[in-house]
This record gives sequence, C-alpha cells and structure tokens, in this order.
Amino acid sequence: MRKYALLIFCLSSCFYIQAQSDTEQLMEALRGPTPLETDLQQLCDEVGGRVTGTEENKKAVKWAMKKFKQAKVSVEKEAFEMPIFWMENFTEGTISGDADFQVHMVSKYRTDPGKYLGKLVYLDKLEDIIALKRPKPNLKGKLLIVDMDLCLDINGLFAEYDRAARIEILANDMNAAGIVFMSTRPKKLLYRFITSTTTDPHIPQFIMAREDAQRTIRLLKEGKKLKLKANVNAKTGEEFISHNVIAEIKGSKFPDEIVVLGAHIDSWAMGTGANDNGCNVTMLIDIARQMKKLNIKPDRTIRFALWNGEEQGYFGSWHYTKRRKKELDNHVMALSVDIGSGDITGCFTNGQEALIPVLEDIFNVSHPGVEFANINAPIVGTDNFDFMLQGIPNLVANHKPQVYGINYHASSDTYDKVNIKSVKNNAAYVASLALGFANMDAKKYGLKRKSRAEIETMFEAFDLEFTMRMFNVWEPWVKGKRGREK
Ligand SMILES: [Zn+2]
Repeated sequence: MRKYALLIFCLSSCFYIQAQSDTEQLMEALRGPTPLETDLQQLCDEVGGRVTGTEENKKAVKWAMKKFKQAKVSVEKEAFEMPIFWMENFTEGTISGDADFQVHMVSKYRTDPGKYLGKLVYLDKLEDIIALKRPKPNLKGKLLIVDMDLCLDINGLFAEYDRAARIEILANDMNAAGIVFMSTRPKKLLYRFITSTTTDPHIPQFIMAREDAQRTIRLLKEGKKLKLKANVNAKTGEEFISHNVIAEIKGSKFPDEIVVLGAHIDSWAMGTGANDNGCNVTMLIDIARQMKKLNIKPDRTIRFALWNGEEQGYFGSWHYTKRRKKELDNHVMALSVDIGSGDITGCFTNGQEALIPVLEDIFNVSHPGVEFANINAPIVGTDNFDFMLQGIPNLVANHKPQVYGINYHASSDTYDKVNIKSVKNNAAYVASLALGFANMDAKKYGLKRKSRAEIETMFEAFDLEFTMRMFNVWEPWVKGKRGREK
C-alpha cells in the first residue's frame, strides 16, 4: 500500500513538473535558494559605491560580465562616452561670526572643487518670492541657506527636486554666490543631490546636515551674523569612456524582436548603492541565470541591460538608443527597475496606455488573485527615459516605499537596507513580465512605437516640461539632440 501511494505521489509530482509552464518554473526557481543574496553582498561590500568613471565602477562592470559568463548567458561590454567626470572626496564646512562651529555637509553634483567663503542669508519669505508675490533681493556675494521638508518617500523626493530646482533658478536671478540646502533627512544624514536646471556656469551648492542647518537658521532668524567657509575636495575631469553590460537570451521564434530589462550598475558612493540599484542589478543577473539553467527559450529575444552613467543623466541607456537606432522599431518593450527593494506594486506605463491590458493579462495568469496597480504616468529620472523619448513602449516598476526614500543616494544606502525576500519576489514578478512580453501575441494588443508628434502631445498632456528641465533633458529633446527625430 505504501509503495502504491509512493508511486501515485511520484506520478503526480512528475506530471506537475511537466504541466508547469516556463513562467511558473522560472518564478519558483527565483523564489527558491539562488546566489542573488551572495551576489548583492559582493557588489555592495566588496566592490562598493560605483561612481561612473572610478575604478570601483570598472570593477563592477568586470564583476557583472563574469556573472553572466558563469551563467553561460551571452554578454558584451558596450562602450559609450561620458561628458564629464565628477567625484567628491569630501567637503568641509565651518560657520563663523556671532557663533563658531563645524557643520557636516556635502557638495551637490558638479560643484567645482575649491574654497568658498560667504555671508549666509536666510529669507523668511522665500515662498512668497518664489511665487513672485515679493520682490527679489540682491544677494550678490552671499550664500543663500534654505530649509527643506523631510523626505520620507519617493513623493517627498520629487517634491525636494522640484523645490530645489525652483530655488536654484531664483538664487541665480538674485545673484547669490551659492546655495546651502538643509538635508531632508534627520540625524545628520547626508546624500548626493543631482537635479539642476542649469548647465553652466554652476554656483556652488551644498547639502548641510539637517540639525546643523536648523541651528544655523535659528541663529540667523535671531539676527546673528554668520559666514560659511567651505572647502570642496572633488576630482573632476573631461569626457571619458564607460561601459554598459548587455546580456541576452536569443528568441527562438522572433530573434529580431527585443524585450529589454534594465537596471543601472553605477551608483553614488556615499553608501554602497544597495537599494539604488545593486539589488535590481543582481535580480536581473539571477533571472538570466535561472532562465539559462532551466533552458527556457523565449519567443522573442530578452536583453538584460546593466546601464552605466545613469546617475549623471542616463547616459548609458541614451547611448544604447543611439547605437541601436536601426533596431528600435523592433523593441517590443523596455522595462526599468530602479525604485529599490520594496515589493513591486505594479508599473508606471509612461504615457503608453496600451501596455495596461498586456500587464493585466500577464499577471492574471502568473499572479492570480494578486492586485497590481498600474499607473499611466510618465517617469523622468531613470533609464526608461530615452526609450520613452524614442516612443518605445516602456515601463518602470513601482514598489512599496520600504526604506528607499530615506536612504536614497545617502551614506546609509547599504546592503543591510535591502529586503532580500522582496527582491526575490520581485524577481518572480519581473521574470513573468519578461516572458509575458517575449511570448505574447503582439497583434492582440496593438502596441506600437509613438511618433515624435505623439510623444510631444503626451509630454504636453502630462505637463512634463519643468520636470524635464530639472533633469537637464528638456533642451536636448526640443533641439532634436535626444529622442525620436520624426
Ligand atoms: Zn537609481
């Protein structure tokens, strides 16, 4: 009887394996024990922060190449040019005058190295001046210090970007010699800040520890006279060559049709680029590895793109769209995963509403009963951007906030902040999405590449000009230097 029962068990489990679809098998493998965790630890702890152009970044590229090769996934290094190099070693700040104390601060991306000294000015009615309800004072030779709200999540992050960009425009109008932003994170946490509406010349801009900035502003409000002395130690340089890592699993039926899964391998280096974006780099490597191991052959080609130069303005993915110009009509979908390691809640469909039914059909099968919310809003700020500018259907995975916002670009973005279990579940989600797009009946959904005119209309509908300006990508688009020509 026992033998009989065992036989039945065997038969049913064999049948189960046979009946399991590629997607189910892949999802199960990704949720099970895989090297993802070890990979992430290596990338964060052994390689470390990976600013594009540094030795650590080159090491990361080499490391990723090796990982794909070990998994027997075909891979290449794709060279592209970065326009400038900028890497801060440290910034020192001292307050002097009616009070003397040291402050913790860092420089904003592209602040020139050197020594700065200026009288600090706090404008009580800054909001009114921004709203043009009050005249702009002349701040020639002075440093403007501004308070900022706490940043708790991605919405706080975009609010910070927006406010900082408006203040930057204003500070330039008022002839300020520089800006000191209060850190939006408590407990003296500092982070790399990037958005800017101006290209050249740059006024120096700093992020000062929240508590230090609060103390300084309290003193200024009491009428005390204070100066800030800053010493910016940063390495800068001209253009240089960097590399994307592009791996692929060829399609068995439509090898020329391509689904891109992307995550950026570069990071800032105050932390070790764990949630931004090491976790999703290792996730893509693991998906490729498990697909190969299970001998899964998608109908269309799946490309695993580890972008470089993302933090400075998505240079790697921009280059990809220029280099592969002739292939772009065959790009079925490009996904970016870049919002940390919280559970994926759905996707941003970036003005391509036709993507929503495809996503719903995929997840109804792969994740029955799980509610995903897809949001048809365009994301500017990561590697989907140039695919959006080329009119290609593109997605950005949306995640639960977890601890992404508070550690974003900060010294605290380290391995211990990553929710590994969620990354593994997210890997299953991304894998089902990849196979869903690679194997779908394209005619059913009518996905298509948008023309330049259609992209322009979409940008207008979502009022995207200021957002694109604060990432310095509006002008290249308008002038036809970036994005689809016709
Ligand atoms: Zn990122």
